[in-house]
This record gives sequence, structure tokens and C-alpha cells, in this order.
Amino acid sequence: MKRFILFGAPGSGKGTMGEFIQRDFGYVRISTGDILRSEIEQGSADGRRARGHMESGGLVPDELVIELVRRRLGRDDLDGGYVMDGYPRTLAQAEALSAVPCASEKAIAIDVEEDEAVDRLLSRLTCRECGAIYNLRNKPPRTAGVCDLCGGVVERRSDDNEQAVRQRFRVYAERTLPVIGYYDLKGVLSRVDGRGAAAPVYGRVKELIS
Ligand code: AMP
Repeated sequence: MKRFILFGAPGSGKGTMGEFIQRDFGYVRISTGDILRSEIEQGSADGRRARGHMESGGLVPDELVIELVRRRLGRDDLDGGYVMDGYPRTLAQAEALSAVPCASEKAIAIDVEEDEAVDRLLSRLTCRECGAIYNLRNKPPRTAGVCDLCGGVVERRSDDNEQAVRQRFRVYAERTLPVIGYYDLKGVLSRVDGRGAAAPVYGRVKELIS
């Protein structure tokens, strides 16, 4: 099966690109952030362990995230291929993922400057149920507070505040940039200019998906 991996700083648009790819190509989007938020929502032990790390903008421990991904990748709906959104974020996660066989692998890094990304995050709204992404300024839900796709509650994520966002950027630079280097060395990495509106960025991403 095919594996795509989306990299990008917080607010780079990787979640939105993952949604578009799922919609147009049928590859299943796997977002570790969504999986973790759903664990928190359910009040599970894993969710309780993850919560504080997420709210402060830090990373959830590798061992927990790797296990959640192992379970997700063990399900039988991925034969058509899948897109990883937000995983791997550390070298240990990258190694764990590399141990999962796939027919082909492509990594795409979406580049955007911090100020533009922070600006997007501070006006972002997210569906609590399905993870769909909106923006107060240029893509609000049709009915305020209600997801167009699933009718779930649309709200600001608790880590989309300036302090947590800045911390997420620091963590991204320290822990995840080396992972992008890892895929570059593997020879499977492409870079996309992520500045500006989602549609033209997706136009560039789409050329790399097949
Ligand atoms: P995201 O929805 O991808 O922005 O992720 C939100 C938060 O969930 C991150 O700031 C981390 O606290 C946590 N998280 C998501 N994916 C991972 C991961 N692969 N490794 C560790 N923590 C993660």
C-alpha cells in the first residue's frame, strides 16, 4: 500500500492538505492529533496521559503515540493507501514507521513562515468530532459553531493560543526538523511552498500525489 507523510510547522496547512487528499484520492488521512483528541474526549487513560503535553504545546511521549499508531495501522481499511498527518514528529517515531512495510513512500514538507502560520492558528476553528478545519476569517462553518460535514461542535482548539503555539514551533524546530532530514536522506522528500491560500498550495501538493 502507498504511504504519504505530510510535514509542516503548526499552521502550515498540512491538516487541510490531508483532508483534500483524502477527499480527492481516497487515501485515508491519519492524524495523530485527532486520535489523541479523541482519546481525551473519551476520557481514556491514554487521553489523560496525553492531555497536559498537548495543552502546553509539548509532544506526547513517543511510546504512547507509537502504540496508538501501531493500533491504527493494524486496522484493515488502509489497503488503498494512507496519508500521515502529524506523525512522525521524532526520529524514534520515524524509525517505528519505517518498520511498517509499504509499497511506496513519499514525504511532503509544506514550508510557511512562522508569522503567517501563527496568524492562521489564532483564527482557526476545528470540529471536535471529525477534525474538519475552518477559519474564522476566510472559511467559517455555514452555521456558526456547527460542522458542515458532520454536524459536530466547531470550536477553537485549546492549544491554539499564542503561548502554546509558540511552544509548538520550538518543539517542531528541535524535534521534527531532523525527521524531515531523515526522509530527505531516504530520497523520498519533496518541498512545497505553503504560503498563501489553501487552493494554490493544494495545486502544488496534488502534483506530488498519485
Ligand atoms: P496536531 O493536531 O497535529 O497539531 O497535534 C496536536 C498536539 O498533539 C501536538 O502539539 C502534540 O502535543 C500532540 N501530538 C500529535 N501528534 C503527535 C506525535 N506524532 N508525537 C507527539 N505528540 C503528538
